Amino acid sequence: MPQEAEISTPRGDRENRYFLIGILAVALVLAGLCAAFLMALGANDLRVAERERDAVTAMLEERASAIQNSVHALLDDPELAQRVEMGDQAFVHQKFGLPLDTRFGYERAYLVERTTGQPVYASVNGLMQTPKDMAALAPQLRRAVRGIGDRRMGFLVDEQGVGFAVMVSEVAGAPGILCIAVDEVNDGFLGDMGSRLGITQLRVAPSGEISSADNGIMLADVSSDSPLALSWKSPTGYAGAVRQAAPAIALLSTALLGICFALLLRSRQSERALAESEARISALAFTDYLTGLASRGYFIDRFREVLDRLKTGETAALLLVDLDDFKDINDTLGHTLGDEVLQEIGHRLKAVVGERGLAARFGGDEFVLFVTADEREVLENVLPRLMASVQAPVMVDGREVMVGASVGAIFAPHHGTSTRDLMRRADMALYRAKAQGRSSFSRFEPFMEVEALNRRQVEEELETAISCGQLTLMYQQIVDVETERIVGFEALVRWNHPHHGRLLPEMFVPVAERSRLITRLDTFVLRTACEQGLRLPDVTISVNLSAVTLRDPDLKDRVLSVLAETGFDPGRLELEITESAIFQAEGQAKETLTNLRNAGVRIALDDFGTGHASLVHIRSVPVTKIKIDRSFIFNLGLERDAASIVEYVIRLGRSLGIVLTAEGVETREQLRFLRAFGAQQAQGFLFSQAVSIDTAVEQLEAQRAESKKVRGPAPPRGQSDNGKVE
Ligand code: C2E
Ligand code: MG
Ligand code: MG
Repeated sequence: MPQEAEISTPRGDRENRYFLIGILAVALVLAGLCAAFLMALGANDLRVAERERDAVTAMLEERASAIQNSVHALLDDPELAQRVEMGDQAFVHQKFGLPLDTRFGYERAYLVERTTGQPVYASVNGLMQTPKDMAALAPQLRRAVRGIGDRRMGFLVDEQGVGFAVMVSEVAGAPGILCIAVDEVNDGFLGDMGSRLGITQLRVAPSGEISSADNGIMLADVSSDSPLALSWKSPTGYAGAVRQAAPAIALLSTALLGICFALLLRSRQSERALAESEARISALAFTDYLTGLASRGYFIDRFREVLDRLKTGETAALLLVDLDDFKDINDTLGHTLGDEVLQEIGHRLKAVVGERGLAARFGGDEFVLFVTADEREVLENVLPRLMASVQAPVMVDGREVMVGASVGAIFAPHHGTSTRDLMRRADMALYRAKAQGRSSFSRFEPFMEVEALNRRQVEEELETAISCGQLTLMYQQIVDVETERIVGFEALVRWNHPHHGRLLPEMFVPVAERSRLITRLDTFVLRTACEQGLRLPDVTISVNLSAVTLRDPDLKDRVLSVLAETGFDPGRLELEITESAIFQAEGQAKETLTNLRNAGVRIALDDFGTGHASLVHIRSVPVTKIKIDRSFIFNLGLERDAASIVEYVIRLGRSLGIVLTAEGVETREQLRFLRAFGAQQAQGFLFSQAVSIDTAVEQLEAQRAESKKVRGPAPPRGQSDNGKVE
């Protein structure tokens, strides 16, 4: 049944999984972004490092070229070449070794034989080396010649320190001689290079000593086999900055991840809340909030399914249940306790259908049930149980409340197969049940459909009639039994129908009562009667009020405002209320009548004898007049019972100080009876039919003219409750 929409566990699991995947995805994206960022920075650093290495190499090449150029500038002299060949050391020193050091700043110069690597001249720091020194240098120089090889430059490490050695292989005029010029790698060398290239901590070190944080290039140690490197500080560039910023980046990433987590959590919560409210809404759509029974929509869907599945020979019953006078219960107990009554009735109806059907509330005090059972079973079993369960007293707030219900029943497929038709026809059956009185049951019969068609048309037309002035009032005089003088007029409504002519109230008042148009109709009659009643001075004007209007909580205010607006004397207004309406009047309705009575308005009990009221009941309502129904008057003189009932009522009424009026007096005979029994007033065709206001005015004027003739000039003024003219 209704409680279908709940968040299932698989859905929750799926949500959790999606949530974790979401978080993981965000973390991965973040990590990926950081990695890509770092990689980009790293790649950038690598490029910078490579460019530095290229720049250092180019600079060394440049320096090597400069050294070579310097060597050529000094050595490419035929005389000097000749002197070299000759072994004139002193000359060579003066013209080459010394100026190379002093003028060009290259501290060492060696001239060696190309083939043997044997030194033929050596100068160190501007000092010419002796043959002995040269002999000591010989192995190293030989290695250097080999070591430099095709590269034409390299590092040379000896007792003097580290030098940048450059080989010049072609000495003009001395083809068998090679020259090795060495520039000392001192602070000047390195500082100059560093400042020109924008690099720091430049140094020469064995290649193994270069740390990973350093950049460098390998250069052969031409004097030994161990490789050397010219190293400098790696570009700290972006990667370094990133390393420094790493904690902050980590912190920010974590914070970002946290925010994403919170956002995801939040969106998940709102998604949950959404799902829950969706579930609640759909549950509400399935159930009636007050009773927990099925809602209208849900009921109709289920009923349609049942109808679709009915097999040949199977029957489903639809029962419409309307609580009798529930409005009175609400008025007397208040809406909260009224709701409790509805809840209790809801429980009981649910128990009655059990597993064989479904119960729903269609709003207000209207319930509906379907039961899959055949007609006999429903009529003999379900229905009596239903009636009994509704009628069992309901305990609310420590009191017993009696509830009755009218039930309309219809059977499918016998009376229809579509839910729409069945509902409509069941409503007709209910209408008929309600018309039969309290706690009645009615089964749908085809004639009801014709009746209902007619009723709907009348309803529509009546609405136009009220607003378009098709209603008129006729006035029927009420006379004093003794004098037969007019003491009042009863306003009776007529409908001048454009096609059907003049319609009597019995043809449209019941329709108006059913459709709630009655309150508008009664208000129209009340206002018109008060307006026209001003033309009928000194007599009462009686206006009929329906039981439905009597239950209207605004009735008192409406009557008083009509009186104020028309200026009609409240003491001349008499409201006629049928016996059954007064009998059912409780709470609000009784209060309305009491308030109106206190304002001077008279209250007449109409059609007395047709309902269930006893005179004892009447004492609790401020009734000023009883109108004995015309069916009793009709039988006066014909049936002995009728005479004794009328006599009894008149006597009792008199003892209670209530005016007795006999309705439907058509014969002198009936009037004689009434006089004999002591009734004060009479109304009927014997005196006059209902006439137009103009005729009523004439009737009253004629009477006055006559009384002037008979009794002299003083006209009767006012009227007391006993109907006597004062
Ligand atoms: P009621 O209030 O008992 O009105 C008296 C009815 O008896 C009137 O019928 C009147 O024409 C009829 N009548 C009067 N004298 C005689 C007679 O000697 N013999 C016979 N056979 N009938 C007589 P009407 O006008 O058809 O009204 C019928 C009922 O319709 C009224 O009964 C009243 O209950 C209701 N009604 C009339 N006007 C209104 C109205 O404005 N509002 C409401 N709510 N009901 C009205
Ligand atoms: Mg009446
Ligand atoms: Mg009447």
